[in-house]
Amino acid sequence: MKEQKILISACLIGENVKYDGGHNAISSEIIHRWKEEGLLVPLCPEVLGGLSVPRPTCEVIKGTNKVICKTGEDVSLAFEKGATESLKIAKEEGVCMAILKARSPSCGKDVIYDGTFTSTKVEDSGITCKLLQESGIPVFSEEELALAYAFWKSKGN
Ligand code: SF4
Repeated sequence: MKEQKILISACLIGENVKYDGGHNAISSEIIHRWKEEGLLVPLCPEVLGGLSVPRPTCEVIKGTNKVICKTGEDVSLAFEKGATESLKIAKEEGVCMAILKARSPSCGKDVIYDGTFTSTKVEDSGITCKLLQESGIPVFSEEELALAYAFWKSKGN
């Protein structure tokens, strides 16, 4: 059986798409193997939404889907577009799950910052993470790689 693909935050595999122009590359044997086998589908929702690299830091206003930059600009529409484009790619590629960067306003799962730019965390997920989950795509953070691998194996891969 052909092994199933995995959506991944592009910054986690070293692509320089972070707000500051850098990346969040992780050193992991399984990520390396998946990459070598062509199973990873890397994307950056914020870039897909039309935002630049570098760009100001942004946070989701607690309890809403409104996203603002530290500069005060409302970037909710760009985040929404990035999420819908990410979902579209996920479906086209037939991914069985996503591995997304923890605490990002787009990619974060379960914990993000609260929109006050004071490093205050809140129980919520980023805009893309939420849309993928609502659409039935399981999401894991890069801090849950063992769980993600076990899930991928459980799908017959
Ligand atoms: S939006 Fe996601 S993929 Fe893009 S830089 Fe932020 S965490 Fe990484």
